Amino acid sequence: MEPLLDIADLTVSFATDDGPAQAVNSISFQVFSGETVGIVGESGCGKSVTAHAIMQLIATPPGKYDSGRISFAGSDLLQKSEQELEKIRGNTISMIFQDALTALNPVLTIGRQITELLAVHQRLTGRAAQLRAAELLRLVGIPLPEERLKNYPHQFSGGMRQRAMIAMALSCQPRLLIADEPTTALDVTIQAQILDLLKELQTSFNTAVILISHDLGAIAGQCQRVLVMYAGRIVEAGTVLDIFKQPRHPYTWGLLKSVPRLDAAPKQRLTAIAGQPPDLRRLPDGCHFHPRCPHAMRICAERYPQTTAGDNGHLVNCWLQHPAAPRINREDWYKN
Ligand code: SF4
Ligand code: MG
Repeated sequence: MEPLLDIADLTVSFATDDGPAQAVNSISFQVFSGETVGIVGESGCGKSVTAHAIMQLIATPPGKYDSGRISFAGSDLLQKSEQELEKIRGNTISMIFQDALTALNPVLTIGRQITELLAVHQRLTGRAAQLRAAELLRLVGIPLPEERLKNYPHQFSGGMRQRAMIAMALSCQPRLLIADEPTTALDVTIQAQILDLLKELQTSFNTAVILISHDLGAIAGQCQRVLVMYAGRIVEAGTVLDIFKQPRHPYTWGLLKSVPRLDAAPKQRLTAIAGQPPDLRRLPDGCHFHPRCPHAMRICAERYPQTTAGDNGHLVNCWLQHPAAPRINREDWYKN
């Protein structure tokens, strides 16, 4: 099967007064139709830059595509003209953001915003557009959709605005939907509803989804495959089972350790990963995680680790995978 999205060796940097910041560093991954791929990692690790790069929404300058290819349905998005990109954005590729309030236009009714999209992307106008807009609101679970179309964004609750944004993203039946922290601003019950909704819509339309989140629970529940990013690199990639049950990278271990567990003893404290992510303008030599890694060896500070490929496409960039490295017992990292 051909991947819908095929990113190869993508590197994106941003010019700063203090030299270039390596926001995304030589990443490669694929997304197939109908699947959900999660991207996790601390803020600033390159998750959102990756999303914006796919949408070609990075301002250049200060941004710069240093290398790579973003192939979507067989053609390279980096080679397209702005006019061609306009047709793809919000049409075959849509994005939903963390904060619907800033993504929606405050002075236009929800109905107007959806029908404008339908006019541009589906050539639907007048009554047909109205009906379709109401149908989309109904689809995302907004009651009395005909009435609600007349509302302005501020008349919607946070959860409803997020639903409206999803309705807008779906108005063109995208082949790829990028959801960047889509539920972060919402309370837990609404979060769960929105994620269920995404899953439902994905199944009905066979849409591919890239879900960016720091909520590992959401990632575990939604995704088939997961990419773990650190300092602009993909440090581990695998099926959701591999990442949650057989993680191999100390950074992934740290992320999983910082999640509350239902079976944890009541007094057990949540452990966040000690230290801070590096300055992207001055990345540490070798493995970028080595200053924070409890298992760092001498080679880790000298050379970036080779990628080790396991079963089911499980990829790990860590010197511990080297046959000569000490064996770390998987149980040990979870306990200590
Ligand atoms: Fe830690 Fe070394 Fe693996 Fe990096 S390569 S995660 S420093 S053990
Ligand atoms: Mg972000």
